[in-house]
Amino acid sequence: MEIISESQHQKSRAADVSWIFEHQQASRNRQQAQATQLRSQAALGKPSWFSELHRLKHLEQDFAFLPVGWHGGKGPMFYGKDHPTTPEDWTTEALTIDQLLSWNRTPYRGIGARTGLHTGPLMAFDFDGESSVDFACEIGLAPWAFDTWHVHRDNDPWRLKVLCRPTLDQLSQLPLGSDGSIEFQGSTLTKPKDSNKKGEALEVFFFGGRQVVLLGQHPDGGNYHWPPGLGPEQLAPPPQAWLDYAVHIAKEVHAPKRSGSRPSSSQKNGTRRLSNCPICGRHAGKGGSSLWCDETTKGLIFCMEGNTFSAEQAHGRLTSNQIVQTARGPYKFLYSKGDAFVFAPQAAGAK
Ligand SMILES: [Zn+2]
Repeated sequence: MEIISESQHQKSRAADVSWIFEHQQASRNRQQAQATQLRSQAALGKPSWFSELHRLKHLEQDFAFLPVGWHGGKGPMFYGKDHPTTPEDWTTEALTIDQLLSWNRTPYRGIGARTGLHTGPLMAFDFDGESSVDFACEIGLAPWAFDTWHVHRDNDPWRLKVLCRPTLDQLSQLPLGSDGSIEFQGSTLTKPKDSNKKGEALEVFFFGGRQVVLLGQHPDGGNYHWPPGLGPEQLAPPPQAWLDYAVHIAKEVHAPKRSGSRPSSSQKNGTRRLSNCPICGRHAGKGGSSLWCDETTKGLIFCMEGNTFSAEQAHGRLTSNQIVQTARGPYKFLYSKGDAFVFAPQAAGAK
């Protein structure tokens, strides 16, 4: 992947911020304009975003649209005919727009679509948090520079989805997994989870077992919407840089013993990148590798598993609460999550 220069990056960050704020302002304006409309539609029992559904009509033959909002969450809503409490297999269901408009089973919160080869085909890039947008800029995937179908949130500018439909030629560039399929889903962790905040990531979904929400209300409040000029009419194939990233992630997840890719080097906000990592010894320079292990301000170490360096290569198979000896003293292994092995410093002599 091509890494753009620091000055280009700063320039694009400035563009990024103004773009994000324009959209926030636009969405505030739209919210005000819709307030009256919302009240009158509430009286009719249909949410305002129902009026956007017709814009999906031209895609209904190719896409698998699903009502979502199961149990207050984002899951597809299907009850089995014979087992009223068992969800039908949503991975084979698909509704037309007319069926969605007349759906009268359980009220639903929004519309989702399955991703992957068999419906669409639909590839989704899911930006989850500011660090994921930063990371994407670094590798040439600025979301505002790709005119396609975007799904934004009106209460959080850093959470958005960029949707695209790969061409046949592009599909042929995706690597085959061991199951013989080119479908995959994976992510780059751009900010590790810490004790009080969930992690952030840039994710790619191209997998029939994964759906994305397109429209409606988010369970945490706020609404999904399509910014002007970035609606379903604009759905386009991914530009080369986006496809390259998808291929990179697909190769990562297909490779044995590895899943997802590595956090970017621009990590900040309470963590610092380690060289040398006291747990696995990962370091930059000669004989080293990209730096992926992080230390939080509280001293937790997120040691990332790789082919050359890993906590278990250095210390053998690990079990929770195991103490490992390092050049910086003893550390306790807490748990592993994704590719990260998480360690806490341990006072010398403590058990
Ligand atoms: Zn490490």
